[in-house]
Amino acid sequence: MKNISILGSTGSIGLSTLQIVRTHPKHFRVRALAVKKNIDQLVLQAKEFKPEMVCVYEENLVPELKKKLKGLPVKVVTGDEGLIEISTLKSAEIIIFALVGAIGLKPLFAALQANKTLAIANKEPLVIAGGLLMKEARKRGVSVFPIDSEHSGLWQCLEGHPSASIKKLILTSSGGPFRTRKTGFSRITKKEALNHPKWKMGPKITIDSATLMNKGLEVIEAVNLFGMPPEKVDVLVHPESVIHAMIEFVDGSHLAHLGITDMRLPIQYALSYPERLVNHLPTLDFGKIQSFHFESPDKKRFPCLELGYEAIRKGGTMPAVLNAANEVAVEAFLNEEIQFLQIPKLIESAMTRHRTVSNAGLNDLLDADLWAREYTQEQL
Ligand code: MG
Repeated sequence: MKNISILGSTGSIGLSTLQIVRTHPKHFRVRALAVKKNIDQLVLQAKEFKPEMVCVYEENLVPELKKKLKGLPVKVVTGDEGLIEISTLKSAEIIIFALVGAIGLKPLFAALQANKTLAIANKEPLVIAGGLLMKEARKRGVSVFPIDSEHSGLWQCLEGHPSASIKKLILTSSGGPFRTRKTGFSRITKKEALNHPKWKMGPKITIDSATLMNKGLEVIEAVNLFGMPPEKVDVLVHPESVIHAMIEFVDGSHLAHLGITDMRLPIQYALSYPERLVNHLPTLDFGKIQSFHFESPDKKRFPCLELGYEAIRKGGTMPAVLNAANEVAVEAFLNEEIQFLQIPKLIESAMTRHRTVSNAGLNDLLDADLWAREYTQEQL
């Protein structure tokens, strides 16, 4: 029996995680749940999974939440302090981080200090502070498991192979909804951008998939997680999205990870590792898939990918700036305040203006994040 806590239990990753717990009640038990503001769903989850602690990040919702939970033996916490309490709760050994945005960063480091196993679903921590996080994790012997389909694939391919045998990591990309669109990028609407061909995900990450920033962020994630230099991490467009990742060995052999496009697969692997558990998910039918296609990503139409490479090559605080500027720009696009093409322009502007701090500590990274948010807001 593994005891888990989930930060972000009402988002798509949180819901999928709870489905896995429901399927495997003998293997997993929920100890704590945290949400940003969706207390109605949190109450339903608390009634079903009976955690000992819940957190609503927005403090003004605490009285209402307490009222709705009346009679249940559950402690209610809130704010940054609350998230930290959830992440360091004694009874849980695995913490799932699935909170959108930078608010999960401090709780993540707190969990690390408390020697919890970290299963990270949101990209921000590994993008903003991945270098620092992995350095600290290695020092303490804490495991960090990726819950991102490509990185889970890489992790599964790399398992048992010494780093000297690896020549290259390859992340695949579906190419997003605009892979075959050659013109009219300035007229792209919110609705078109939210219509992802392969994955059903939250709005922020769906827009990131349309700009290919998602892949730019994943390159940074891979560099940090696996300690590979950026030039050894490649991106390959593969519209079928059946292969999630590949590794190339120094002798020219490749290993690939294949699976259905369902986040429950990488979530379950992170929870069950090193074991594998039977589940009821559909499996691949190669007779139906028939063929695989590959193409190189088009850097001209999708400049966000190259911005990702540039940020991790510069290192230090630059990935935090890229991430924050992107968050502000994507939100503005979702609010229909800016055009699709302005997203990379805003990010590039912040990166050009920022002076990278190398060997950045957590406060430097958070300062850079805040600066980039304010700067990009001003540009808007
Ligand atoms: Mg991914």
